[in-house]
Amino acid sequence: MSDCIFCRIATGEIPATTLYDDGEILAFRDINPEAPVHVLLIPRRHIATLNDLAAADATLIGRLYLAGKQVAAELGVAESGYRTVINCNRDAGQIVFHIHMHLLAGRELGWPPG
Ligand code: 5GP
Ligand code: ZN
Repeated sequence: MSDCIFCRIATGEIPATTLYDDGEILAFRDINPEAPVHVLLIPRRHIATLNDLAAADATLIGRLYLAGKQVAAELGVAESGYRTVINCNRDAGQIVFHIHMHLLAGRELGWPPG
């Protein structure tokens, strides 16, 4: 049994509200949403942070964004707008060390982040 919470969501061991699943990429609702739409997109394969990406993962990361684009369209926020964020390590506030892309939408998000 993995001690990584997102690996456990990927195997179905921990339930999540899934919005997209192509076998490689999974999207589910964030348990503590910061916006009306707050979705997390993860590769099923465990990669801890952006720093751990290899050149061979380029297609995987591209697919993460394509999945995000599809989820945004399906949730009806593609035109109003959305933000995608991948936090890396302490200063960015990363708390789950399985790479994930936040998709935030449904309100004015403000820029730059505080
Ligand atoms: P980070 O700060 O690492 O970029 O973001 C981690 C995100 O994972 C947070 O927004 C947090 O609410 C979310 N999260 C943590 N544990 C769970 C969980 O068990 N289920 C879901 N759906 N989201 C989680
Ligand atoms: Zn993991």
